[in-house]
Amino acid sequence: MAGGGTGKRGLGTRLVGAGRKPEWTGPAVNPPVWRASTYLYEDTAAQEADRLPNADGLFHYGARGGPTQWALCDALTELEPGAAGTMLYPTGLAAPVMALLSVLKVGDELLISDNSYDPTRSFATRALKDYGILTRFFDPLDIAGFAAMIGDQSRAVLLESPGSLTMEVCDVPALAAAAKARGLAVLLDNTWAGPTGFQAIAHGVDLSILALTKHVGGHSDVMLGGVTATAEYYPRLRQRSLMLGQQASPDDAALALRGLRTMAVRLERSTTTALTIGTWLQQRDEVAAVLCPMLPGSSGHDLWQRDFTGGCGLLTVVMNGRDRAARDRLIDALDLFGIGYSWGGYESLALGVHPERDRSVMGWPADNFAVRLWIGLEDPADLTADLERGLAAWAQA
Ligand SMILES: *Cc1c(COP(=O)(O)O)cnc(C)c1O
Repeated sequence: MAGGGTGKRGLGTRLVGAGRKPEWTGPAVNPPVWRASTYLYEDTAAQEADRLPNADGLFHYGARGGPTQWALCDALTELEPGAAGTMLYPTGLAAPVMALLSVLKVGDELLISDNSYDPTRSFATRALKDYGILTRFFDPLDIAGFAAMIGDQSRAVLLESPGSLTMEVCDVPALAAAAKARGLAVLLDNTWAGPTGFQAIAHGVDLSILALTKHVGGHSDVMLGGVTATAEYYPRLRQRSLMLGQQASPDDAALALRGLRTMAVRLERSTTTALTIGTWLQQRDEVAAVLCPMLPGSSGHDLWQRDFTGGCGLLTVVMNGRDRAARDRLIDALDLFGIGYSWGGYESLALGVHPERDRSVMGWPADNFAVRLWIGLEDPADLTADLERGLAAWAQA
């Protein structure tokens, strides 16, 4: 499961080679889809011998996965410097859920950055609460405030950078250092940048969480999650995930492996177009702000430049005004941007969002409506023309 010595190669090269092992693929370029619930042993002695090692790479039982899933796990582990292993889950949401369940127990306290993905927040405040684990939210831009709120019961911190919807970049190394000084496990939902855009473990994270549904899948046809962890945390993550029956299907793993090979070119294209469109939107009277740390001068840009090696085409446009009908006219007038939740595919999306509904301690200006855009692989000029149509509909009396 350990990452090999491929760290010096370029990103495209690493994405093409990651997780490809001749013993699993044979002469085929891609590992076959191994569908199996049952693996047969040669004799009773072989079955007995297999009981104790319980390690990956040994055929044992379908719930532990097979070569198709292991190839994806290895690929993701290779892409994350400092990682010991990766576990897969049937949705992106199951990834933060399982990461949290592997580090928390009754009586512990969890600290979550206030701009975290809404369903993760709900899992903590509703489900974890029922298991005797309490959650407090904090502003990830206030490092001293975070350090001061760590208490004796605090056991883990969950970060997300940039934050969902509002896109704040936080100082992950500084927050991780403060957390580790008090013995907390540091979890980061790294879905926005992915392992190629932000090396989570190298920046102090213990468990790096990915909704593989987004950039890795990349084609809006698979739900999948992954957690990549350090040697300290991987055994617990693996044990708890297997105990709770977590595994992804080989078909979904094969789709994710296919998506992974082209991820760099897709992200490059959607990032470049997003920068063009973001810059263009910043100059429009209808727009109050474009929330995207990749844009020079925007909030979080300095930290993004310091810590990240890439970005993606997800940005939030804050409109000038709070006219619900105008916002709906804007979105409905778009032809190339579909209305949908799960971004990261090849097609562009637009969605009206309400960050104020999912914040406990961070503010959100009450007099603005926001539209989240996912910039896909269409031609930039066509997307701009489409948005021009939408802005005309917004402005229409
Ligand atoms: C989409 C998303 C998830 C969940 O992924 P699903 O595959 O849709 O369950 C988790 N975290 C972040 C930051 C996301 O954007």
